[in-house]
Amino acid sequence: MRAALLDFFLPSTCPACRAVPGPNICGSCLAELSPILHPCPHCGSPRWGEEESCPRCHDAGLPNLRGVSCLAIYGGTMERLIGDAKAGARAPAVAALARCLAQASEPPGPIDLVVPVPPNPGRRDGPHLASHCAKALAKVHGLPFAAALVTRRPAAQQHLLEARSRQRAVEDLFALRREIPPGCRVWLIDDILTSGATLSAAARCLRQGGARRVYARCLARTPRGDDPRPTAEDSETLSGAAD
Ligand SMILES: [Zn+2]
Ligand SMILES: [Zn+2]
Repeated sequence: MRAALLDFFLPSTCPACRAVPGPNICGSCLAELSPILHPCPHCGSPRWGEEESCPRCHDAGLPNLRGVSCLAIYGGTMERLIGDAKAGARAPAVAALARCLAQASEPPGPIDLVVPVPPNPGRRDGPHLASHCAKALAKVHGLPFAAALVTRRPAAQQHLLEARSRQRAVEDLFALRREIPPGCRVWLIDDILTSGATLSAAARCLRQGGARRVYARCLARTPRGDDPRPTAEDSETLSGAAD
């Protein structure tokens, strides 16, 4: 609450360094992100060279999803910003991340509906990051937004679970809150992609509700040991996209 009041009264600065004036993530903080400009279409991880997908996927990908991509690798400045946005529910960090994602994303194809992965039930700690990101994407690209999903029960902390337990923990986690147009193409938005089990479960619920295709876009992907490193050119491209 105190942080929220301070945010309201103090002149806005870059939410990452808190030094450069303005509400957006400043150029030098953007340059510290590790953008994923050439994602594997199936899992959103960085691709290797000219390969179509990453060697781990072999065209298998995440169930129920047509494509997955993420803005950047989860770590460093991105990790701090998401930590601020989630734990402290700091509105400036939430808004800046949402704008950054919206401006650096292109719809993966024709989209009829932008839908966020919903918050845990009973959550009360300020703005919800995935919902704000989805709203910003919908606004920037002139697409309809719908909070079409609800979470049936509090989700387990995914990063504390083994891969197989993750799948079980999210089975039937989501329900449709409202009907979606039959045959619609959905852009599903979340903050952090780890195993993809949550995204897959949310996509399954949308598919069962009548969606024809579900594409996912997330702010960050947790790194894997053998991910290729982004180049300086990648970082420059992201700064340019978000200006
Ligand atoms: Zn900054
Ligand atoms: Zn992959």
